[in-house]
Amino acid sequence: MNLEHVVGLACLESGTMHSPDVLRYGSPNPTSELGFSPLDVRYDYAVVKRKLGSAEALAMAPLIMQSFAPLLPIPDASYLSTLLVGGTPLLRSSRLSRELGVELFVKDDSRNPSGSLKDRASALAVAHARFFRRDKIAVASTGNAAASLASQAASAGLTAIVFVPAQAPIAKIMQAVMYGSRVYTVNGNYDAAYEVCQRACECFGWYNRSTGYNPYMTEGKKTVSFEMAIQFARLAGTGAPMSAPDAVFVPVGDGCIAGAVHKGFDDLLQLGFLERMPRIYGVQSDKSAAIHRAWVRQAPIRKVNATSRADSICADMPRDGAKALRAIRETGGSFLAVSDGHILKAIVDLARKEGIFVEPAAAASLAGLCSARAQGLVRDGEKVVLLLTGSGLKDPLAGAELLAKPLRVSTLDDVKKVEHLSA
Ligand SMILES: *Cc1c(COP(=O)(O)O)cnc(C)c1O
Repeated sequence: MNLEHVVGLACLESGTMHSPDVLRYGSPNPTSELGFSPLDVRYDYAVVKRKLGSAEALAMAPLIMQSFAPLLPIPDASYLSTLLVGGTPLLRSSRLSRELGVELFVKDDSRNPSGSLKDRASALAVAHARFFRRDKIAVASTGNAAASLASQAASAGLTAIVFVPAQAPIAKIMQAVMYGSRVYTVNGNYDAAYEVCQRACECFGWYNRSTGYNPYMTEGKKTVSFEMAIQFARLAGTGAPMSAPDAVFVPVGDGCIAGAVHKGFDDLLQLGFLERMPRIYGVQSDKSAAIHRAWVRQAPIRKVNATSRADSICADMPRDGAKALRAIRETGGSFLAVSDGHILKAIVDLARKEGIFVEPAAAASLAGLCSARAQGLVRDGEKVVLLLTGSGLKDPLAGAELLAKPLRVSTLDDVKKVEHLSA
């Protein structure tokens, strides 16, 4: 096996290092509420650097996951599917910048093949399963990971088996059905789907892509930070091949994305490609705030009864909380809890002021920034990136109650009446 750039998988609780040549999930740990201790993939940065070349070379490479293969736990880019993942735009957000008094950028990851950031993890899952010669991959998902895995598996000719809550948004379920995966809708919430998927993987020996338990998903998702660093340097004109903004706002459900954003910037620091770490802010709905609560109380993460309308960040017991907490603590950021009402309003603001339509979970990042500004956590003029994680077309009725209905007409006279009234 040619994983010379990977040192191994470190257990975050015991520190034990495991060989990277064996497919491994979280270490069984009956004393943890999750039943496992999370693992973290560790690299030999000298070897990575030899494979990648200089920061300048990496910054010039195409912005796709293939370019970052030496920082992924696969031998090379040939294992990745031909669906191009990543390379999503970082955009200046001028109208919201003025309103919020910061220099705002958005990283629009809704523009991935299946419409969410989850494609970064699913692409790696499929590559990884191919490397370990597995042809059936399962996942428990609130919807996006299922749609995403189904798409990646279809492209690679592998079988996806997905478990989603029966109440998941219909567009996400239909994506998974359309891409040809076997779709199980589970009676119960995401946590119930997680449990059934876990059991099924143990029973049938399927590759388990489920977030948190599968330590490799962080590695796929972290590529968003490589891109942010390259794009931010260009857009802000820093003169360096890669630079970090002051702060990044990340929606948090299981906490995998928050941990991954941290890992990506940390890889670049370890390589000497980046000068500093941005502060990372994790945003939860106050109706699904297990990690926020643990942060505020400085206590272990405990299960909550999550009921948020932002389905992609609705989780009773987050599966990647340890990495998310570490990300926020080590970067000097914070956790924020925002109301579902503020999340829905943020969807409308992003659509009407920036022309970007996102799903509720993604809009939480803007709601979080508003809250952080009100609390004085972000100073005037700071450079801030919002991570927009999923498309509004996945859940188009979210926020509809805030909006005027379309106007039904038959004739020009009907239109004239409306136009004269609003003139
Ligand atoms: C999965 C997801 C999140 C949350 O990611 P975690 O890793 O579970 O914290 C946020 N937004 C969208 C659109 C997602 O699909």
